[in-house]
Amino acid sequence: MSAPAPSLAAAPAPRRAIRELPDELISQIAAGEVVERPASVVRELVDNALDAGATDVVVKLQAGGVRAVVVEDNGCGIPVDELPLALKRHATSKIASLDDLEGVLTMGFRGEALAAIASVADLAISSRTADAPHAIRLDARAGELTPAARGVGTSMEVRELFFNTPARRKFLKTDATELAHCIEAVRRHALARPDVGFTVWHDGKQIEHWRAGDLEGRIRDVLGADFMQASRPVQADLGGMQISGRVGLPEAARARADHQYAFVNGRFVRDKLIAHGVRSAFEDVLHGARQPVFLLYVQVPPQRVDVNVHPTKIEVRFRDSRELHQALRRAVEGVLAAPRAAQATAAEQPLPMTAPHAAPAWTTTVSATAASEPSAWPRNAQQARLGLQQASMLWGPREASPSVFPPASPAPSPAAQAQAVPGSPALQAGEPPATAYAVEAEPQRGDAWPLGRALAQIGGVYVLAENAQGLVIVDMHAAHERIVYERLKAGASLTIPTQPLLVPAAFSASPQEIATAEGEREALLAVGLDLSPLSPTRLAVRAVPAALMDADAVELARSVLADLAQFDASSVVQRAQHDLLATMACHGAVRANRRLTLIEMNALLRDMEATERADQCNHGRPTWRQVTLRDLDALFMRGR
Ligand code: ADP
Ligand code: MG
Repeated sequence: MSAPAPSLAAAPAPRRAIRELPDELISQIAAGEVVERPASVVRELVDNALDAGATDVVVKLQAGGVRAVVVEDNGCGIPVDELPLALKRHATSKIASLDDLEGVLTMGFRGEALAAIASVADLAISSRTADAPHAIRLDARAGELTPAARGVGTSMEVRELFFNTPARRKFLKTDATELAHCIEAVRRHALARPDVGFTVWHDGKQIEHWRAGDLEGRIRDVLGADFMQASRPVQADLGGMQISGRVGLPEAARARADHQYAFVNGRFVRDKLIAHGVRSAFEDVLHGARQPVFLLYVQVPPQRVDVNVHPTKIEVRFRDSRELHQALRRAVEGVLAAPRAAQATAAEQPLPMTAPHAAPAWTTTVSATAASEPSAWPRNAQQARLGLQQASMLWGPREASPSVFPPASPAPSPAAQAQAVPGSPALQAGEPPATAYAVEAEPQRGDAWPLGRALAQIGGVYVLAENAQGLVIVDMHAAHERIVYERLKAGASLTIPTQPLLVPAAFSASPQEIATAEGEREALLAVGLDLSPLSPTRLAVRAVPAALMDADAVELARSVLADLAQFDASSVVQRAQHDLLATMACHGAVRANRRLTLIEMNALLRDMEATERADQCNHGRPTWRQVTLRDLDALFMRGR
């Protein structure tokens, strides 16, 4: 006889009769969702202040907000007779019907926050409307109304958070950590509402103060001048849906996704779709786990976004999620595509040495736009493209100019892959170096070219060049790999070679997976996957991309199905194609230790200037670096 298996579950309690919970307990349960820490209180109270039309919001904290969170605003105030109502659950002035809910534009609408806060902390409201002779203070616990002194607006005082729920209080971190979360909450509001002034005090000291003003100034104040410098404006308009803001350049990316700000109709959200849309635009230029930095504002008609899917409203659901994903990816790709060498020369670091009239047409085109209209993204992209056309007029059409680098190794295997992209210059073996192209490109003044005039090659890997700012160092393999890759992408309508499996790999699939396998058959085939249903609950993988023969077919199928279910098919297909092209580009790019002539080096530099995303190789590493004359002076302790 074996002993009964020990049970981890407690013995079931004897059944109790069903009864309605007391109000206070209901609020405490609701507070579990809404109020996690002092920062949640800050967020809810500032939301309310903004909904009340405040133009000036002061947040005063004690002991990281655990001892006290006080939020003062100059909004419309609450009439005396409504004061007790404000504390009631499901009491709100912001919606009155389902129609209102669907069109809601205020931060709050659930009528829950004040009731929840009052159930887990001491809350007092002092408020005065424009027509009231003086302010009235309501102490939530005592329920007493007393006259108070303050101007028009509202002060909310929240003291001793979780004093009556010690278990929850134990989950709080150190005061310093809680304070950091509180400040982050105000930063989010501040980024959403540059037209409102914000001040933060902690233990009697003013620690942040952001004056009302324009968005650019606010971004600079909150995220710093570094962010402005390391980011570029994005803008897209999809008829009804607008995207604007800034994305960080690849080198500004971080190990964590902690500098990603997304606002939907002015509300800060943590949205997977937005984050993924942006991340997918970085696929080509960012190292695997790095996270891009961005600040994005999405404006959507309220009927096309559901904000009532999360108690704290930090998540939303978009009606047109795929369109938004695609638009985001395209918009960000557009920003990342423009080669930066030219912009850096004139727009960012205006140096006296760069006489505008001596600069090539392309440099002036891009820099002039960048300087005069920093936020007009679509125009910029167009101009940049125009610039490329002008550049190719100067240097000869891109397609017609065969690369000066014949592949050092035999054409990439399998040979069929190379044929898949006919006319891709870099992959045509035995092409003699084209000199006419490079000679034509020789500028009259080397320093007028963004990436300068080639000087030498060192270590078999690096090309040195001189431009107006000083020394340019280029990793020739990384740079050439990018150039080849971009050409392959431009020329390719690529079919991914597939490999039928000898034994189809069967797996049990969710209804969602089956539906996607049926609905997205074309996209699946385009990425080299052949899936067919075996039964209502099983799928079989019959073919996989040839390049991924050794991968786990089922896992591969599952992850592609998951992507297809969530994101727009074209971006999934494009990514798979790009992966393949990147491998081809790596084979096709010039190898280390090949001696280059000066003419070849110059041609490489000109190619880089004309190539999209030329600043990073396909793996996200930089292709070139600038060492300025000032850097060199510092190196030699030479004052100028
Ligand atoms: P909600 O914001 O979802 O309406 P709350 O519990 O946060 O719910 O607030 C309840 C009501 O109290 C609001 O609808 C609003 O009328 C009023 N209120 C709260 N804070 C303020 C404030 N700072 N200024 C003016 N009215 C306020
Ligand atoms: Mg509210």
